[in-house]
Amino acid sequence: MKVVLQNLTKIFPSRNKKSNEEVVAVNDFTFTIPDGKLIGLLGPSGCGKSTTLYMISGLQKPSGGQIFFGDEDVTELSAENRGVGLVFQNYALYPHMTVKQNILFPLQNLRGEDKLSKEEMLERAYTAAKLVQIDELMDRKPSELSGGQQQRVAIARALVKMPKVLLLDEPLSNLDARLRLQTREEIRRIQKETGITTIFVTHDQEEAMSISDMIVVMKLGVVQQIGKPQDVYDDPTNLFVAKFLGTPPINVFEGKVAGGKLYLDGVEVLDVPGVADQDVTVGIRPEGFTLDENGPMVCGLNSVEVMGRDVSVVSTHPASVNSVIRSIIDADNKVAAAETVSYSLKPHKVFLFSKQDESRIYFDI
Ligand code: ADP
Ligand code: MG
Repeated sequence: MKVVLQNLTKIFPSRNKKSNEEVVAVNDFTFTIPDGKLIGLLGPSGCGKSTTLYMISGLQKPSGGQIFFGDEDVTELSAENRGVGLVFQNYALYPHMTVKQNILFPLQNLRGEDKLSKEEMLERAYTAAKLVQIDELMDRKPSELSGGQQQRVAIARALVKMPKVLLLDEPLSNLDARLRLQTREEIRRIQKETGITTIFVTHDQEEAMSISDMIVVMKLGVVQQIGKPQDVYDDPTNLFVAKFLGTPPINVFEGKVAGGKLYLDGVEVLDVPGVADQDVTVGIRPEGFTLDENGPMVCGLNSVEVMGRDVSVVSTHPASVNSVIRSIIDADNKVAAAETVSYSLKPHKVFLFSKQDESRIYFDI
């Protein structure tokens, strides 16, 4: 099911009686979510991810704009009638019910032509349970399950009604690191097997990047960039997006462009043809540095961390905004123990941003 968001906006009235400042939680969000894809909705806390999800689900009413499922305008439709499955961070299982009863619950309220026989309900419940691999745990209570298993029950409960759209709001946040990894792969597998259009909300860029067909990066209610994870990483539209994606994060410098050359701390480091003379903010991805003893970027060497396949070099540079620079170098290249380490730069890993509005300034490579 294709989902269309058209100028979707949500404004909350001020919570504070003294000030009249309203909160624009979601501002003019327009996007078509293609049928059968998994979309990662990504951004820092408070940027409007949950609000967007609740509007799609029908739990919250938009202040403006429209929502379509396929060609049907569902903006005024109640949550029950939209055919969405919702999964929250805190599982929200009924503690006094068994796993089986929890999964069956949404089916028992179906009325009219949707009403199912007991056998049909059980079959659906077991199919959903098998899909998330908890069919052996059907008679347990939620308190007898691990966090990861509880979240699987919540997913099964969302799937049992065969929703047209699956909405997941930070579903992995309560799990420990290893379970988070495992469960996110599970969610991807389930999504692929069922082909349900899925929106996955997270503040964790790595999580969103690893399982999404496309990511939507939000900031303060405004969509910053939409694209395939790799494309957004390789070609960020502004400094916010560049900084939000990637571990270790992008290295940021104060720089200057003059005569088509980029200068850091007065030293020419890269050709940037086509850019007008100006002060710029410079982002360099950790993998954008090449060890080069004659390279123009001479950095103070702090430490070298061996990580097996790669080596992480921690260094300093006068133009760096952060106290240290992190670069990732192939482990085959040896970093000599010395006071300094010198690099040349990979042009496609260097991004320039406007000092005025932090938007990207492109140069010809
Ligand atoms: P996220 O899920 O990305 O952390 P939310 O969508 O929950 O962000 O919130 C977006 C903004 O809207 C925040 O500034 C939040 O404080 C505000 N907000 C969310 N829900 C309400 C509400 N019911 N009333 C007033 N403000 C709200
Ligand atoms: Mg939220």
